[in-house]
Parts: sequence; structure tokens; C-alpha cells
Amino acid sequence: MSFTEFQAPANHLIDTVLPVRPAMVDRGSAERMKPGVLDEVISSGAAKAMVLSQRQALVVGEKLWLGDAAPLLETLQAAGGPLTAIYLGRTLAPSSGQPSSVPAQTPIVLFVPGEPSAPGTAGLPAEGTWTGFREIASRLDATDTALFVEASAISNWHATHTHCPQCGTPTVIEAGGWVRRCPRDNSEHYPRTDPAIIVTVVGSDGRLLLGGGGPVDAKNYSTLAGFVEPGESLEQAVVREIAEEVGVRVTACQYLGSQSWPFPASLMLGFTATTDDVEARPDGVEVTRARWFSRAELQAAVLSGEITISTRLSIARSLIEHWYGGVIEDLQQ
Ligand SMILES: [Zn+2]
Repeated sequence: MSFTEFQAPANHLIDTVLPVRPAMVDRGSAERMKPGVLDEVISSGAAKAMVLSQRQALVVGEKLWLGDAAPLLETLQAAGGPLTAIYLGRTLAPSSGQPSSVPAQTPIVLFVPGEPSAPGTAGLPAEGTWTGFREIASRLDATDTALFVEASAISNWHATHTHCPQCGTPTVIEAGGWVRRCPRDNSEHYPRTDPAIIVTVVGSDGRLLLGGGGPVDAKNYSTLAGFVEPGESLEQAVVREIAEEVGVRVTACQYLGSQSWPFPASLMLGFTATTDDVEARPDGVEVTRARWFSRAELQAAVLSGEITISTRLSIARSLIEHWYGGVIEDLQQ
């Protein structure tokens, strides 16, 4: 059977191998369908608001800043400029032992001003700083991480879907920020997510194939990844991307778990794949270097500083450590 004929077994159940992180926010998919839900939630006085602008959230210390939604809305509106409001849902109690930044069942609203006002103005705290997700993610607790990711995903979609794709008319926001409707043809438009596969490729001798882009002699190595194309199954995308990027024929693959990565709109679907090939041929475009590692070789290369691998923020690291069978120690700088 050639690799292009590879078929995943039909009707197999999803078997998530990587640990599933529980949801930290009840998105209130029924609640947000009520007309005027944002006004109702904000005027209740119980709602807290986070602020995100141009992909940066307002952070104080190592916490997302959450202000009282009602007065903040007034000051942001008074400051002028475009302002989008989105209902993110209600916080859930973290599983036991985890710290929580916000009491459970707190309604959370997202305000997205067109421009990030200077901290200390427009109702924002003077000690706040506008911070990107990658800069702070490793230090955020689970609730703040969930809110930052959800807020990034929905605000990135709004930023690029302001007009009706059918007739070009500016659309209006409904359902607490989760639908945009065209007032001309009444079409509804929903937030989009782009599926991408990310894969550990394992040879018949158990070694792991990692690759990297950019300069040929760069030190960073990671799993291989690519977007799923329209009309393609996830398994077909795994086979195609690995063949394209490193010229390796996948013989089988297994789904392991997923991670939302809304920068701007990806959902990373993690797989492990096997191959009988022993030679990798990087395409020289997306992947400029590829290398096989035994477990001992990978750990030694990381500890010596010869290579770097993906950080723990990413599903790439989880996939690599799933293959490794434990935690890979990082070089202490
Ligand atoms: Zn339209």
C-alpha cells in the first residue's frame, strides 16, 4: 500500500491519550442567546471585565486584570473610539488543589477597544501593562489562561470578520459577541477555527523525527505541523504534511489530544505517526533541517544546549514527552 492510499480505520473512537485540561469557563452558550445578554450581565453589577487590544491583555503582576464591568464600560465608552464587548461566560471552580484567581460563577465580559489606552487612563489601573499571551502564559493560573485564550480567539475572529462575506455589508454583533449578522441579507456568521495537525513521527527503531525551519544551522527542533486543507481528513493531512515537509511516508497515525492556539485561529490536533522510512528529506522551505533522536540522544542534546525543543506552553512539548515517556529536563540557564 502506498502512503497516498493510507486510510485510518473506520469508526474508531476518539481515544485521548494526553491529559485533558478541564474547562475553566462555562461559556453559557444558551445564556448568550438571550437578547440583550450583555446589557443584563453588565448591569447586574456582578460582572468582571478583562481588556484585550491588539492581541495584548491588560495584566497586573502575573494576573489578568479584571475590573468591574459596568463602570469600566462607561469610562471606555467615554474615552471614544471603537469598542467591542463580548460575553465570555462564567468562571468554574478549579479542580481541587489549584489556585483560582476569580470566584466561581463570576460573569466575565471582554472589552476590546480599538487602541490600547495607556494604563492609568480610561478606567485602567496605572500599574497594569499590556502583555501578549506568550510573554505571560507560563505564569498564569488555569482560569486566567482559559480566559486569555478564549478572549484571543473570539477577538481575533471579530477583527477579521467585520463584513458580510456574501455581500460586503458591515455585520452587526449578536448573541453576546458569538454571532455576526448581515443586516442586508440576514445571513449569520459564526466564529471560525482553523484545524492544524501536529505530529511526532516515530521510526521503526523507536527514534523520533524532529524538524525545524529558518536557518539550516538553527538550534530549535520541534514536531512537524501543518494546516488541514478543505475536504481533507485529519489522517490524510498527517500523511500529506509529513510527506511534503520531510519526504517521509507515514504508515499509521493515532490521535493523542488537542490544544487551542488562537494566534490567530488555530486548533492544534496532536498525533503520533509511524514510518518505516529512515531517511528524512526536508523540503527546504517550511522545514530546513530534520533529525532522528533516540530518547537518550534527545535528552543529552537538550541538556548540553546543542538543541532547544518546544516549551511546555505548547502541545508540541506534550507530544514529544508522550513519546519520551516522561519529563524531558531543560537546560538550566
Ligand atoms: Zn450580506
